[in-house]
Amino acid sequence: MHNITTHQKTPRAVIIGGSLGGLFAGTMLRAIGWDVDIFERSSRDLDSRGGGIVLQPDVIEVFRRGGIVLNDDRLGVRSAYRTVFQPDGAIQSRYFAPQTQTSWSLIYTTLKTAFGDSHYHQGKRLARIEQDPVTNAVTALFDDASRERGDLLIGADGGGSTVRSLFWPRIRPRYAGYLAWRGLVPEAAMPAAAREGLHGDFGFANNTGSHILGYLMPGEGNDVRPGHRLYNWVWYRVADSGQLAQIMTDRNGLERDYSIPEGMLADQWVARLRDDARRLLPPPFRAIVAATEHPFAQAIRDLAVDDMVSGRVVIMGDAASIPRPHTAASTAKAAANALALADELAASPNDIAAALARWELPQVMYGKYLEKQGTQAGDDLMFHSRP
Ligand SMILES: Cc1cc2nc3c(=O)[nH]c(=O)nc-3n(C[C@H](O)[C@H](O)[C@H](O)COP(=O)(O)OP(=O)(O)OC[C@H]3O[C@@H](n4cnc5c(N)ncnc54)[C@H](O)[C@@H]3O)c2cc1C
Repeated sequence: MHNITTHQKTPRAVIIGGSLGGLFAGTMLRAIGWDVDIFERSSRDLDSRGGGIVLQPDVIEVFRRGGIVLNDDRLGVRSAYRTVFQPDGAIQSRYFAPQTQTSWSLIYTTLKTAFGDSHYHQGKRLARIEQDPVTNAVTALFDDASRERGDLLIGADGGGSTVRSLFWPRIRPRYAGYLAWRGLVPEAAMPAAAREGLHGDFGFANNTGSHILGYLMPGEGNDVRPGHRLYNWVWYRVADSGQLAQIMTDRNGLERDYSIPEGMLADQWVARLRDDARRLLPPPFRAIVAATEHPFAQAIRDLAVDDMVSGRVVIMGDAASIPRPHTAASTAKAAANALALADELAASPNDIAAALARWELPQVMYGKYLEKQGTQAGDDLMFHSRP
């Protein structure tokens, strides 16, 4: 078999998608000596997407292997206790469970700065892929008619993945029957009732068809200094598909697929959210929802594919599986996909096909394991009535 690596050429990866999954893969493949180019359809830097993220070891491992040195206290914000409130505000349980919350934005800016601009290409939307069975080369064709050839193409293009749709067109994420309302409040603007009950801890409260949690995370410009952080809350609520479609129609009447960014939620839903908060949430969470200027929303979806490799094309991150957020594992899973891929490619540098064959099954199984864990936890929280 004609294989580019047997000619001692540096192998090249073409990565589609320049969010966290693409940057994890780019960082790791470069760390094992590959030439890497990332192609992102957005023509500017990606928005913060508001998200707080529980910092997991696989993300730190990508930083470490990518030569990114950050002190622990710059990586995020520590919380001490896990506190669960009853709907009337009484404390149901409180136990010491220290962990670190970071943000989508901190991970993205850290990886992107380290990766640099010269091999990160914006405004490049993948349209098609060609594979040459003789040379094993894979070519990405973009909608601006440009082409990029490599030894491996990595689809890190998210839940709506073009790469997945080209090879596995019937596989799509499924709506889980509930959505996450989300909000961010500057630490300094936290109302007294919220500050008293929630500040510094990882807080939770459950009610029938309702599960809310919140924590402090890095603020604007990845600022982790006390007083400059953000309080991030996520409130899961059951909604049928008809209701979801209404919520996903933004304030300008634009129908969006599964998320509404900050500032775009229609007024009627902001009002409904605040009203529901008064009825269903304990006082600290009620106060924080009331203090949120621009709540936003994301539908919860399930995906765990059976295949992640087709020839020299692979999919990873959200393109391959979307665990429910209760697992706090989606970002870590994208990092784990990238770490394992680099390990396998490094283990057999002259046989990419063998490396991909070894990589695929454990990654598929990991996605399915997280799917099971997430659906069990989520369905129990959302669809079982609470006293
Ligand atoms: C409510 C909610 C809460 C969450 N909380 C957590 C949490 O606590 N912890 C956690 O770890 N994770 C969490 N996540 C998930 C996390 O945000 C993602 O799993 C993670 O960012 C990995 O995504 P990705 O890079 O694979 O895909 P994405 O972030 O979706 O990126 C895909 C990229 O590909 C680009 N793209 C798409 N199509 C093309 C194309 N044709 N050509 C070129 N580029 C293209 C897109 O523009 C985008 O930038 C949460 C998600 C939700 C919905």
